[in-house]
Amino acid sequence: MKKLIGKIAVVTGGSRDIGRAISVKLAIEGAKVVVNYFNSEIGAKETVEEIKALGGEAVAIKADVSKLTDIEKLKTQTIVAFGNRIDILVNNAGGLIARKSLQELDESFYDLVLGVNFKSTVFATQAFMPLLNDRGAIINISSQAARDGGGAGSSLYASSKGAVTTFTRAMAKELGSKGIRVNAICPGLIGTKFHDDFTKDAIREKVAGATPLRREGKAKEVADLVAYLATNESSFITGNNIDINGGLAFS
Ligand code: NAP
Repeated sequence: MKKLIGKIAVVTGGSRDIGRAISVKLAIEGAKVVVNYFNSEIGAKETVEEIKALGGEAVAIKADVSKLTDIEKLKTQTIVAFGNRIDILVNNAGGLIARKSLQELDESFYDLVLGVNFKSTVFATQAFMPLLNDRGAIINISSQAARDGGGAGSSLYASSKGAVTTFTRAMAKELGSKGIRVNAICPGLIGTKFHDDFTKDAIREKVAGATPLRREGKAKEVADLVAYLATNESSFITGNNIDINGGLAFS
């Protein structure tokens, strides 16, 4: 039995890797899905087609969620597509951008990293909050980096995810009385383009080898946890940052 029939979900960065797995999983559970993308137009179209082939409904909407004007555009186009309410917001868009040491940091890089990981989460939450009805769910994708400071050269990324983790707790308190639950997920090493771009194979093998389950995680495994947090099965869970890391670290 599908658990999200009649629900409407917005997934930022929903066109590839973890975001795509989340879009598809929520659709499999019956939700209508807004697949937000920025650069990956083809991936967004493919994700929508995949959902339609599964019998679901989805639209792709382009928006740079680090920009408030684009978040407003995403909201307006969501209303045009599916009406004046949503039930699930997944703040998934994020990225490392580049590995840089403290001495290599500058203001524009700071704005870029904090913008895509934290500012996006804050202002997408603000924009979509009025559209979330009772028992709505917000799921933020934080990171193991928020717990342990991240790998080499990822200080701003790790700090931005730390901010996402703390913001999640704050929003759980602020929005709880409206019936909105806010949780975050802290993935460990998940095999996606993120690490294809920024992590050497030797490091990936080392981390996977040190993981009790002896492997990298899969995007679908993160998506399954997102779906759980989106359904009523998690109705008394809010303000949590849930680890999904194969046992690599405990918090
Ligand atoms: P990824 O492969 O690098 O994908 C990043 C996603 O973010 C893409 O869908 C991208 O969309 C979107 N995005 C980036 N900037 C955007 C912007 N300005 N506006 C809208 N969308 C934007 O990363 P991933 O591995 O799937 O990670 C997804 C989330 O999980 C991220 O928040 C990441 O930090 C987090 N995470 C990942 C891991 C891991 O091991 N992979 C671990 C912990 C946390 P476009 O391609 O359309 O631009």
